[in-house]
Amino acid sequence: MDEFSLIHRYFNRAELTSNTTGVNLGIGDDCAVVAVEPGRQLVQSIDTHVSGVHFPASAPPNLIAYRALAAALSDLAAMGGKPHSFYLALTLPRADQVWLEGFSTGLSELAVKAGVVLAGGDTTRGPLTISIMVQGTVPAGGALVRSGARIGDDIYVSGTLGDAAAGLKYALAGQVPDSVGDDREAWLLERFYKPSARLQLGQWLQQSGATSAIDISDGLLADLGHILESSEAGASLDLEQIPRSAAFQAVIEPELHNHLSLSGGEDFELCFTLPSDLELQFPDFCQVTKVGRIIKAEGIIDQATGEPVQSRGYRHF
Ligand code: ADP
Ligand code: MG
Repeated sequence: MDEFSLIHRYFNRAELTSNTTGVNLGIGDDCAVVAVEPGRQLVQSIDTHVSGVHFPASAPPNLIAYRALAAALSDLAAMGGKPHSFYLALTLPRADQVWLEGFSTGLSELAVKAGVVLAGGDTTRGPLTISIMVQGTVPAGGALVRSGARIGDDIYVSGTLGDAAAGLKYALAGQVPDSVGDDREAWLLERFYKPSARLQLGQWLQQSGATSAIDISDGLLADLGHILESSEAGASLDLEQIPRSAAFQAVIEPELHNHLSLSGGEDFELCFTLPSDLELQFPDFCQVTKVGRIIKAEGIIDQATGEPVQSRGYRHF
């Protein structure tokens, strides 16, 4: 199968391309042509997933695709972006049709759910690597940035933390959600392979006066640390409030609870700050939990002891 028929068959398919979010000319020309509503800006980001580094080489292709797109969309969520379109640069060792069919199905599943169109990409031969560039739109000047947190703001996180790190253990053992007998293990594997990009929450926060946001890809401490650095502030965390799922608590030894939920990466939940005097009624599309406060300090302090919170997130180098 040549490159062009591969693109046509697996990527230029209706589920991926026939949305009407503003791609005037999609796959098939040298560039895509996209329309942006007046008064809005594009927010754009790219993420690369390397086989053996970000996912086990033997992982099911639909889950590899789903997770790669979810991770990219999570960056849009963190900026308060409304999904617009995405680009896929795919490096494949060979044109395996069964694999490609699975990959394209997983990609479509999330693209349809999130309302994004595949507007273009690149296809090359080499070690399995997936790069996804996403773009969304925000009201001009309104992107949710890392640098806006102010002393006194409350710190929140969405969902539960540590689930993906727990699920990774099973993923590395070659397990997939459908084949695992234990419901809790299957649920944690889903949290690893099918993270929920919090797109709705991000857009709601963007409109509701949030002062900063970031998605948690390297663990809460590391990612909150980026907000603190950019905002030139510190934080006090109430470690008792860190939200953990029932499945996580059931399968992970208690000594590891803090470490995995504070430093385990890839949950793709949002960490955000809100002025404490804003009286907001949170929408019910996902759990949000207040976990601390922005203070005048260096780094992150344990509210209970006044001591710095130790632990670090995943770093590639
Ligand atoms: P060029 O050589 O001009 O860069 P390509 O031959 O790489 O163009 O791609 C032809 C068309 O197919 C382009 O519109 C490109 O965006 C699209 N495309 C290539 N690979 C992919 C892919 N993996 N997913 C989606 N679109 C792709
Ligand atoms: Mg060209």
